[in-house]
Amino acid sequence: MPANYDVHITALRERLAGLGLGELAIHVEAPFVVVGDGGVDVVKRRAGTVRWAVEHLEADFFDARPARILDIYLFGDARSYQRGVRALTGETPDTPYGFYSSAHGGLFMNIATGGGTLVHEIVHPYVEADFPGAPAWLNEGLGSLFEQSSEEGGHIVGETNWRLAGLQEAIRAGELPTFRALTATSEHAFYNRDRGTNYAQARYLLYYLQEQGTLRGFYRAMRAARASDPTGYDTLVTTLGESDMAAFQGRWEAWVLTLRFGG
Ligand SMILES: [Zn+2]
Repeated sequence: MPANYDVHITALRERLAGLGLGELAIHVEAPFVVVGDGGVDVVKRRAGTVRWAVEHLEADFFDARPARILDIYLFGDARSYQRGVRALTGETPDTPYGFYSSAHGGLFMNIATGGGTLVHEIVHPYVEADFPGAPAWLNEGLGSLFEQSSEEGGHIVGETNWRLAGLQEAIRAGELPTFRALTATSEHAFYNRDRGTNYAQARYLLYYLQEQGTLRGFYRAMRAARASDPTGYDTLVTTLGESDMAAFQGRWEAWVLTLRFGG
């Protein structure tokens, strides 16, 4: 184990000992340190999701790892999650599933809700390191794409998920923003003025690119062009090879309406 993990874990143990959270096992799953309740075997088993996500995301998308060691807290139920987040961050979590906090240097998960949110949140520190300044639509589009994913031919592949229904509803109501508007959305507007479709629209745009076999190339091209095309819109148009984006959006919306999730 590299010395910096030793130093990190020694400091972590000292900190945890003072919080009264009971016995938490610590397991290195580079580039993360996984901390959890339920004993070391349970934590190691749960950390398998971390390893799988790290291996596949690094193979297909991210050249850079998070610049510092981040802790991933895997709490076994809602009660220990609530208690742990309060003790570790001083705040009450505003999601029952889990979240990444750059300020607190960690991911905090209620792992009883499944591994999907864990994979979603792992994407965020990677984007932070690999694509500084990436717009929120890309960051959340990738995170939410892989919150429901499997492996095909050795690659991580996003699947349809629960975000589809609301997106289809907005499409039927004719309420979806243009892709130019979505990609130009500021971070503040993306998170705070979302009418409920930002995540889903970004997710299923990336899902479309994935199904076309162009998602990995798009990510790399957008990252390379970030100075001249910070929103990614021009790179999107080029990747799609479209001269008429309104026509494309019509075809994409019709395609989204053919997708199914759960049944
Ligand atoms: Zn997210």
